Amino acid sequence: MRNVKCARCVKCGREYEAVPRLTNCACGGILDLVYDYAYIKTVLTKEKLKERPYDMWRYRELLPVEPDTELPPLRVGWSPLYEAERLAKQLGVRRLWIKDDGLNPTASLKDRASAMAVAKAREAGAEVIACSSTGNAASSLAGNAAAAGLKTYIFVPSRAPKGKVAQLMSFGATVISVQGSYEDTFELSKQAIERWGWYNRNAAINPYLSEGKKTVGLEIMEQLGWQVPDYIAISVGDGCTIAGLWKGLKDLYAIGFLDRLPKLIAVQAAGCCPINRAVEENAPWRPMEENTLADSIAVGVPRNPDKAIAAIRESQGLTVEVTDKEIMAAQKLLGTSCGVFGEPAGVTGTAGLKKLCAQGKIPADATVVSVVTGNGLKDVANAIRSCGEPISVPSDMERLLEAFAAREIPLN
Ligand SMILES: *Cc1c(COP(=O)(O)O)cnc(C)c1O
Ligand SMILES: [Zn+2]
Repeated sequence: MRNVKCARCVKCGREYEAVPRLTNCACGGILDLVYDYAYIKTVLTKEKLKERPYDMWRYRELLPVEPDTELPPLRVGWSPLYEAERLAKQLGVRRLWIKDDGLNPTASLKDRASAMAVAKAREAGAEVIACSSTGNAASSLAGNAAAAGLKTYIFVPSRAPKGKVAQLMSFGATVISVQGSYEDTFELSKQAIERWGWYNRNAAINPYLSEGKKTVGLEIMEQLGWQVPDYIAISVGDGCTIAGLWKGLKDLYAIGFLDRLPKLIAVQAAGCCPINRAVEENAPWRPMEENTLADSIAVGVPRNPDKAIAAIRESQGLTVEVTDKEIMAAQKLLGTSCGVFGEPAGVTGTAGLKKLCAQGKIPADATVVSVVTGNGLKDVANAIRSCGEPISVPSDMERLLEAFAAREIPLN
């Protein structure tokens, strides 16, 4: 890879050759891919991008794949960025955009990492990929691998919502539902991966995955015509997503595509917020219980805290925690004001933005992007809890009129 210099440990600085089966540093630290920006500047221009297919691989010069790697078939990336004028007014910011990453092929942002995992597994000559996941990394890996003809072994906690498990079964994964927390799930997967030598798609161990996730940041900026927003709000679990987003933005800055960087808004659930707490207390992170309905970010022992905490700090970002009630309200708010249906963790970024606006922490002239990271169809039980049940009537006009009157529903 001419564009990649090496992989460097974020803890001790030790450097490694960027081989496909790259895992943590000998010291236990997470590796970060280091690019040759001077070279990339000579081969990538904004003009060149205009001629390319609209998927995550259009940024190939900024991605760690060999030139001859066969790319996975599902169309990942280039999810829509909608300007949300009514919602902007309601929240009290000048301009607001919603990046709906729930419209990826398996309906979450995780497809960006899984497509990268499949590309790297192919480079490694692997035929089996494995991961543990709160649900979306699993279903996206299963889908992207199935499309590429690779086998998957997937470990999920038994609490994973039915929609995600249904996806796994439909993609033909071998699914192990672990009776325990995400932490327990991760540990079992780690042992199994070591034992059988499968290609490892665990996000905090395989440093290529956040490189896939960073394409969400690259896209947001290209979709905004390279005009940098003041803030980008996103939900945080393990921390790989926010770290990837930040990496993408910094890449663009390094090659001169951006003239400044936005501030990140890191949003976690109040019942499970070890990363935000570490930033707020300026102290090492400590494990927490996994106490939230937003299953995708119910991560008590984050696997990528170092990169995530560094990203929030470097961007001079904000942290905010939201209750399950606030998450449910945001789900309804995005649905009713934007027609965007997100799963609980998917709308948590918007819930946090709304809270900060209400607290007066976001200036009224600010421009903001809020990323919706997963689709609401993944977890319909919680969507019904947030948004309510329909009006139930027999097929009888009189009863319909009564029902409308009882609810004071306006009829013209
Ligand atoms: C995984 C996930 C997140 C958080 O990403 P991390 O890398 O775990 O921080 C947020 N929202 C959804 C829908 C996810 O699946
Ligand atoms: Zn190290």
